[in-house]
Formats: sequence, C-alpha cells, structure tokens
Amino acid sequence: MDSVTPATRMASVPFSGIRKIFEECDRLEAEGEDVVHLEIGRPDFDTPKPIKEATATALENGQVHYTSNYGIAPLRETIAKKFETENEVSYDPDGEIVVTAGATEAIFVSILGLINEGDEVLLPDPRWTYGAHVELAGGTPVSYELDPEDGFQPDLDSLEAGVSEQTKLLVVNSPQNPTGSVLSRERAEAIRDFAVEHDLIVISDEIYEKILFDDATHHSLASLDGMHERTITVNGVSKAYSMTGFRLGYLGAPPELIDPIIRARQYTTTCAPSLSQWAAVEAIDRDPHGPLVEAFAERRERVLERLDAIDGMTCPEPTGAFYAFPTIPDGFDDEEDFVWSLLQEAGVALVPGTVFGDTGKGRVRIAYSNSLERIDEAFDRLEAWL
Ligand code: PLP
Repeated sequence: MDSVTPATRMASVPFSGIRKIFEECDRLEAEGEDVVHLEIGRPDFDTPKPIKEATATALENGQVHYTSNYGIAPLRETIAKKFETENEVSYDPDGEIVVTAGATEAIFVSILGLINEGDEVLLPDPRWTYGAHVELAGGTPVSYELDPEDGFQPDLDSLEAGVSEQTKLLVVNSPQNPTGSVLSRERAEAIRDFAVEHDLIVISDEIYEKILFDDATHHSLASLDGMHERTITVNGVSKAYSMTGFRLGYLGAPPELIDPIIRARQYTTTCAPSLSQWAAVEAIDRDPHGPLVEAFAERRERVLERLDAIDGMTCPEPTGAFYAFPTIPDGFDDEEDFVWSLLQEAGVALVPGTVFGDTGKGRVRIAYSNSLERIDEAFDRLEAWL
C-alpha cells in the first residue's frame, strides 16, 4: 500500500500521553537504565490465590466458550448482591447488569450506545481517558473542573457553566484518577440535584471504591434519591483485587439504559472472557484484597512525607485510589519538561498533569503502585537531581 488515510474520527483522538512515557521507559530499560516506575496505574501485587484457583477450576471444567452477552448468571447474581449490600442500589441480575471486558469497555459501550453526533458530555478535568471515548462516539467532551483548593471536589460553578441544551451525559469518577479525591456526601447530593435539574444521564465510575484512606466514605450516586433511573454504575475487579489482566468489569443500569448499551456491546467484544467471569465470582464474593489497601495506605503516607520536603510540590491529601497529583517543584514552569527531563536524566517515571486535561497544567501524577523502597528511591533521585 502507498499510504493509509486514518478515519477522520481519529484526528481528535490523541496517542495516549501515558503510552508515550511507557515507551520511553522501555527504550531506557532496553539500554540498561534502571527506571523507577511511578507512572503505572495498576496495583503491583499478585492476584489472591483463591481467585487464581477459581480461574484454574473454570478452565479444568471446560468453561472455555462464549457466554451470554450480559455475562454468566452466577456472576450477575454475585454483582447484584454486592450492589445491594455494599452500595444500597438494587439491580435485577436479569437485564440490569452487564459484565464487560474491563470497566473500560463498560464506559465505552455506554457512551457509544447513548451519544449522538453533536451531543455534549460533561467530563471532570483532570480525568482519566473518557475524552477519547466521547470523541470516538462522535460526541463533544466539555470539561468541568475539580478544584484543588477544595480537595479536588467537582466545582459546581464550572458544571453550571458547562451545561447546555446539547448536554446528554455527565461522567463522575470517585475515588478519582488522577487526583485521589473522594466525592463528599454534600457534593454527591449537589451533583444529584444538578443531574436531575438538567435531566442528564450519569456514568458513575466507581472502579477505585474499595481503595479508601482515613475516614473517607464512598457514595454510590445511584443510591441517592432520583438517581437510580438515570445512572450507569460502573465498576470492576482490576484495582481492588489486582486483576487488571483479567479484563473484567461490569455495569448496572435500568433497562432503558441497558438496551442501547447491550446492543453496542454485542458488536464489540461479545462477552467478557469466560475464565475471568468465573474468577470474578470468587473475587467479588470476598473482602477486598486487605493487604493491598494497607500497603497503599502506607505508601500514601510516604509519598506525602517525601513531597512535603520538596519546595513547590504540594497537593491536597488524596483519600482514595493510589494517586497523588502535586504541583511541580519550584523553578519549573512546564510539567512536560519536568517529567521528560526527570525521566531521561534521573530515571524516574511520572505522568505530566496535562495528559489528564488543562487543569493538570503545572502538575504531575504520581502513581504509588510501587514498593516503599522504590518510592524512596524515586524521591532520593528526584532530590539529588533537583
Ligand atoms: N476507570 C478509571 C478511573 C481508571 O483509572 C481505569 C484504569 O486505570 C479504568 C476505569 C479501567 O479499568 P479496567 O481495567 O477495568 O478497564
């Protein structure tokens, strides 16, 4: 072929900023450099043994075929029970729950199933990759700000400023990537009032719900009055059970919302991997991976302590997930320069804040999904380099 013309819809879908950092890490490591990874948004633990055993048993039992588009019945029942007891939300396992290939697919097929060309979608800024999902579906992302002066809670004025006749969907993420903030009860209720007033559908991405610190509490938006009928609750096993490679997520929503979503999903991955679905039955039925949450709590303390010692690197204390989103040190005015120089000259990998939106200007994301020793090594190098 002489040349390939990409689909025009790809023009506004950028090459992932995090991927660029990964690739530079690969290049440096191939040259024999030691890189400390604080850029990767995945737990570094092994999957708990009983979950692995459930996967092996499913394989032995010949669970190797396509499953229902909605997911296997035992898993949907386990998820419905989990929603009921942990989130105070009722979903019928038959028709109100869809098991997906990761929360990523749950979010993408929800947006694909609901958004028309020209529809606007309100997204937090900073945020995970929802913007690309909206662009791929032909919609228009519109940002609302998370306010660092207010612990990165959603800024209600900016939500009001962003809403229009074209707004169809609002995405909320708590605990949040990249700031580690957890939506307060008061702000959750304000978002409920806003969504009801403007008659919006809400995607509530709750993938980090089990990773909470201090006395932070998770509030499922669908449990608030007036929200069940308009909310798609997204979750998955990737983060709480260290199962990112299983590609297993799920969503709960009322039937009118499920209908377009299941139709979009029939033509994407058809069903989530069968073995992962059996693994998830075991995972969701157990407590979160306790040592994992404890380890993250200890690492968070260490990151905050070490940040405190560096002039200019400040952030509100994260109370969930495993990220901190501080400002860059004094003497730097561009987060891209800071991140790339630090990586190339000192072998410490972070992510520039602007990868997550305009409000990430002058900030970096630190993922503390690495051991205490490596976190210390990263900060020792950073201090020496500065
Ligand atoms: N939602 C958020 C906020 C995330 O940070 C991530 C992954 O980093 C996901 C969803 C995707 O999770 P999954 O592995 O289930 O696709």
